Amino acid sequence: MAIKCKACVHWLPPSQLVEGLCTECRRRLGLPPQVTSAIHEPEPCALCGCDELVEAILRHRAGDGRVEPTGATYPMSSVANVFSDFTLAVDSTGAVGVLVALVCRACGHTQLFAEKPREIPIGPEYGTRLRKAKPRSPYRG
Ligand SMILES: [Zn+2]
Ligand SMILES: [Zn+2]
Repeated sequence: MAIKCKACVHWLPPSQLVEGLCTECRRRLGLPPQVTSAIHEPEPCALCGCDELVEAILRHRAGDGRVEPTGATYPMSSVANVFSDFTLAVDSTGAVGVLVALVCRACGHTQLFAEKPREIPIGPEYGTRLRKAKPRSPYRG
């Protein structure tokens, strides 16, 4: 039994669709290949306590009408350069630490989570650095 992709004319076996969308449509619509897993069990809104939340994969316009997932950073690769051995450049494939927003349906308060945080590369060329949080106060839960 084939099922029609929600966003194009293709009929495919259910195993080839993710959330009803084919691989090509997910790429075209700037969605990651798999369903997001960053947020396991959301807490009610920290500001108003509402329990209805919108989970949204952050995307940005990438020119020529396309959208791409927004990441904490983007992969880099070395490209040949006539002046030196290599030059680092942003790789056009994908994003690392794809950002997923949890938006409160009542007040709009928004929290961001990144997919696979341990895979986010650290370094000035990535615009990232490791920070250490101050210890939790013993007087707060
Ligand atoms: Zn499709
Ligand atoms: Zn709220």
